[in-house]
Amino acid sequence: MIQEGYTLRIERARKALEKADHILIGAGAGLSAAAGLDYSGKRFTDHFRPFIERYRMKDLYTSSFYPFSTQEEKWAYWARHISLNRFETPVMPLYKRLHEFVSTRDYFVITTNVESQSEKAGFDKARLFEVQGNYAFLQCEAACHDRLYYNEQIVAGMLAEIEDCRIPVRLVPKCPVCGGNMDVNLRKGRFFVQDKN
Ligand SMILES: [Zn+2]
Repeated sequence: MIQEGYTLRIERARKALEKADHILIGAGAGLSAAAGLDYSGKRFTDHFRPFIERYRMKDLYTSSFYPFSTQEEKWAYWARHISLNRFETPVMPLYKRLHEFVSTRDYFVITTNVESQSEKAGFDKARLFEVQGNYAFLQCEAACHDRLYYNEQIVAGMLAEIEDCRIPVRLVPKCPVCGGNMDVNLRKGRFFVQDKN
């Protein structure tokens, strides 16, 4: 029976993990999906209705690659996306349970997830490598320097002034070094900035 097979395997894994002194966690999109951080369905349609109607967006993953023709439109979308996934969503119980389980052990987390759930759940930042970046930071779009900029206030400011799926041009973030455009710190092109941590 397939179901029995899974149950036995999960039980074996649970016992092995309980005895382990060192645990390396590889966390991908499946963990956030299992935790309830849906990138499609009602959570998406409830929060992105004007963007879905205007750009025919299908879900929060593919819309991350939408080729906006202006910076005002790009940042209106990203302010909503970052605010919902990084700043408005509280820590999910599944991440908390995982942290409780490993907190007394020697652990390290490598994650492709960018919503800071691990950090919110209490995982030690020194034991956490966010391979794909983090929604909470902006970087120079051309990666002219390697500083990352925490964006909570910037995003809140944009969010407050979105009108007709755009932010005012005065709120478009510019690189303080080269004066060019900024981007979200996500590994989606060749200009991804990795900080020293
Ligand atoms: Zn720059």
